[in-house]
Amino acid sequence: MFFSPPVKLVPPVFRPPSEANSLLIQVTIGCSNNKCTYCDMYRSKSYQVRDKKDIFKDLQAAHHFYEKHGQMPRRIFLCDGDALGAPTNLLKEVLQEINRLFPQLDRVGIYATAENMLSKTKEELEELSKLKLNMAYLGMESGSDKVLHKIVKGNTAQDMIEGTRRIKQSGFKLSTIVMLGVGGKQLSKEHIEETAKVLSEEPPHYLSFLTTFSVPGTPYHKMEERGLISPLTAKELFLEMKGILENLELEKHKDSPKVIFRANHVSNQFPLGGVLPRDKEKLTNTLKEWIESTPEGVYPPRPMTM
Ligand code: SF4
Repeated sequence: MFFSPPVKLVPPVFRPPSEANSLLIQVTIGCSNNKCTYCDMYRSKSYQVRDKKDIFKDLQAAHHFYEKHGQMPRRIFLCDGDALGAPTNLLKEVLQEINRLFPQLDRVGIYATAENMLSKTKEELEELSKLKLNMAYLGMESGSDKVLHKIVKGNTAQDMIEGTRRIKQSGFKLSTIVMLGVGGKQLSKEHIEETAKVLSEEPPHYLSFLTTFSVPGTPYHKMEERGLISPLTAKELFLEMKGILENLELEKHKDSPKVIFRANHVSNQFPLGGVLPRDKEKLTNTLKEWIESTPEGVYPPRPMTM
C-alpha cells in the first residue's frame, strides 16, 4: 500500500536514496549556500527558514494521516538542502514535537554542510542527537582545497575534517558523498590524493561516490564549455575511484573504523559496494578489471535523473 501524507512540500524536493521511505518535512526552503557551481537543485528557490507553526501543521497533518491508516513512519527526513543550518532552538522544538507525535520513530535524518556542523557547538549537536536527529548527510565532494575553491563549495578541507569530527562526537551517524570527476582532468590527481587524506583523517560511517555530470545552465557547465574543466572519461573515473580507495589509510586509527561504502548512485556506471577497510583489495581489484576492459575515450552515459 502506498502512503502519501498530506504534507505540502515546496518543490523541487530532494532526499538521499536511503530516505526513500521517510516522511519528508521541510524545515527550511532551498539552500543557505546555493553557490556550488555544479548544483542546480535549489536555484529556483530563495532560502528561508519556515515558521514553526507551519512546520507543526505539517507534522500534525502527517500524524493524523498515519494514524488513520494504522501505520506510523519509522523515519523522518528534514528538508531542504542544508536544514541543519536552521536555528538550534527551532530544530529542538520541531524535534520535540516529532518525538511527541511519533514516539516509535527510529531516527531523523538531515542534509548538512560542514558550515552547518561548525556553526553549532558540540553541546547543541548532542542535544539534537538525543532528540533522534542522528543521521546527517554531507556533500563533501572533494578533500582538495583547489577543487573546493573551483566549485565554490564555501568550505575548506579542514572544515570538512572538523565538521565531521564534531558531528560524529555528538552522536550522529554521518554519510559523506564524494563526487568523482568534479575537478575535471586538470585536478584529478589532487582530487584523488587530498580526498583520500581527508577521509582517512576523519572517516565517516557511510561513504558514497557519485559521478559528476555538468548540468546545462550552471556555472560549472559554462566552465566546462570554456575548457576550464575537462570531463573525465569512463576509464578515468574508474581510475579516480580506485585511486581514492587505494590511498585511504583507515587502518591507522586505533579502533579501525568500518565504513560502509557505496558507489551505486544512478550517476555511476556500475554499482560497487563493500565495507572499508575490510574490502579495499577486493574493490580495487574489481576496479582494475573494469579499467583494463574499458576502452580509452569513452564517456559514461548521462543518467536520466540525478
Ligand atoms: S550546499 Fe549542497 S544544496 Fe547547497 S548549493 Fe551546494 S551542493 Fe547544492
